[in-house]
Amino acid sequence: MSSLSGRRRSRQVRIGHVLVGGDAPVMVQSMTNTDTADAEGTARQVAALARAGSEVVRITVNTQEAAAAVPAIRTKLDAMGCNVPLVGDFHFNGHRLLTQVPECAEVLDKYRINPGNVGKGSKRDEQFATMIEMACRYGKPVRIGVNWGSLDPEVLARLMDENARLTQPEEAVDVTRKALVTSALESAAQAEALGLPRDRIVLSAKVSGVQDLIRVYRDLAARCDYPLHLGLTEAGMGSKGIVASTAAMGVLLQEGIGDTIRVSLTPEPGGDRTQEVIVAQEILQTMGLRSFAPLVIACPGCGRTTSTVFQELAARIQSYLRQQMPAWRGRYPGVEDMHVAVMGCVVNGPGESKHANVGISLPGSGETPVAPVFVDGRKTVTLKGERIAEEFQAIVEDYVRTRYGAAAAHSTEGEAHTVG
Ligand code: SF4
Repeated sequence: MSSLSGRRRSRQVRIGHVLVGGDAPVMVQSMTNTDTADAEGTARQVAALARAGSEVVRITVNTQEAAAAVPAIRTKLDAMGCNVPLVGDFHFNGHRLLTQVPECAEVLDKYRINPGNVGKGSKRDEQFATMIEMACRYGKPVRIGVNWGSLDPEVLARLMDENARLTQPEEAVDVTRKALVTSALESAAQAEALGLPRDRIVLSAKVSGVQDLIRVYRDLAARCDYPLHLGLTEAGMGSKGIVASTAAMGVLLQEGIGDTIRVSLTPEPGGDRTQEVIVAQEILQTMGLRSFAPLVIACPGCGRTTSTVFQELAARIQSYLRQQMPAWRGRYPGVEDMHVAVMGCVVNGPGESKHANVGISLPGSGETPVAPVFVDGRKTVTLKGERIAEEFQAIVEDYVRTRYGAAAAHSTEGEAHTVG
């Protein structure tokens, strides 16, 4: 599923085996929070992020030890059968790490360079050039990733000076937003002048405010055709981070802006890093831009649902469907478009269930303790008793096998026919 028709046309960039920009679907990526020098722990987290659906994973490369561990991380991932492209995140000393540990430069699939953190004064250009030369030597793409928190002070000072000379100067915040875009575009032009092909450059300009992000990316999108990596930096924890990221990215994606997204959530201590991948997928899927896993439509519950049966069944079906996806993806093509409704009572239950592929309307308080099940809009069975959850799950499983298994068999027959 895709609604790419209104999408801003960007150039296409290849990151390992993954395409970003052009007519490629909006790609989901994430970043580890392990110490990269710990090759074992980092490879495990990269693999978990990739299993959750991250199509590219970024790792911090901040020390000699971290750079030296990168080839081992790749080897471990390959041994696990995980071919997710790896991106190295470089700041301050990236020029040294890339030249002193060439195996790291070679094995990474992309370098992220922050033009605000590559050095000061005359050293800045030299160090930036070294990193671009390494990207050229190893044929790697680069993301020029500008960030509000580390904006190139020289670009900002120059634009502030120019602004001060105007008869009607702009507000400082407007000049800062302009400086972000300018820093990204000027660094990209500099990279191209150093020999990096245009189709090996991705841009980002991250800020932490929703309205600022929308303005910055609208400006960036209007002024270049590089693919844009979208993300609200320092989005925050829990629902705050999810809501802020969704609000900002939702507006931009709806305008066709953004070729790859990352949701920068701060995990709870000991929390699951893969949550940011699931949120990114859910943003794209609920907007109708991509499909990753069947959607569970559940009502919020109210005074008519006083037992927890309904919440338990919705949670159980949601996690069951997600767990099955790695196996179902290849076996049952199209299953990711399936809708399952789990509803709390007779008010909207039957109606919503009829709109889903499979739906169940559970009994609300005071209703007869029976749960009609609807398949493709028709009532097929009424469940009752203690085993409603197990029986409903079996109905969903059977539906997937019959509906999407048939599609797989059909396409295999089609292939055989074509070949024969
Ligand atoms: S479907 Fe029933 S239980 Fe669910 S929110 Fe509506 S009235 Fe409440």
